[in-house]
Amino acid sequence: MEDLSDSDAIADHVALIRQRIQAVAVQTGRDPNTIRLIAATKTVPVARIQTALDAGVIHLGESKLQEALPKLDALESRTDVTWHFIGQLQRRKVKAVIGRFQLIHSVDSLDLAHEINRRAEERALCQSVLLELNIGEESTKTGFSASELVKVLDVLDAMPNLAIKGLMAIPPPSEAPEAARPYFRAVRDLANSLKRPARHRIRLDELSMGMSHDFEIAIEEGATYVRIGAAIFGERPVKVST
Ligand SMILES: *Cc1c(COP(=O)(O)O)cnc(C)c1O
Repeated sequence: MEDLSDSDAIADHVALIRQRIQAVAVQTGRDPNTIRLIAATKTVPVARIQTALDAGVIHLGESKLQEALPKLDALESRTDVTWHFIGQLQRRKVKAVIGRFQLIHSVDSLDLAHEINRRAEERALCQSVLLELNIGEESTKTGFSASELVKVLDVLDAMPNLAIKGLMAIPPPSEAPEAARPYFRAVRDLANSLKRPARHRIRLDELSMGMSHDFEIAIEEGATYVRIGAAIFGERPVKVST
């Protein structure tokens, strides 16, 4: 049940994060309008998402398709909302994601890119995506390594129904936000280095990086999308793995 104090808290958190984004943008000489706040809404029920929307949030990021579909339906009338798919995406779920999410952040393999391209072609649309980097080269994580990405870029460039807009990355977990800086910087440097030679269609202008605990560092290093959950909605219940 949503109570008044909870919706006040969400609105306060959204306002505070906007101020912090604004402040760090100004400090780093960036236009604050080039940094978009995505509310990461996994485990958050529709009523609380609605509160965030009423507080001015327009970008929503969902991580799991099964959880997202009822929310997409419930919020269908909010045509001002931009939906982002930010979680790991399985090939067999691509069909349901195409066209419903304006941006898929988590294209982590050539296989997945092929499937998105194929399904988008069936629907006669062009799907906007980001390429996910495994920037810490962690064996537990999916995503392209930097060297892999360099090798497959021309193949990706030849997929007519993919609009590749940029890169996404989640640095290895750390208590200290500063520890993420070299990773964020590496993402930005890679994006810049891949802009030459110019590909026909690929654009690498968007950098999706930074979460609740490290978004300010990410903005200093060039983030254009920050994905924030806990700092808006509070800590999520701890998942008990079985
Ligand atoms: C949950 C999630 C976030 C938000 O994380 P917080 O620490 O709650 O801000 C960002 N990105 C992805 C991919 C997520 O799954």
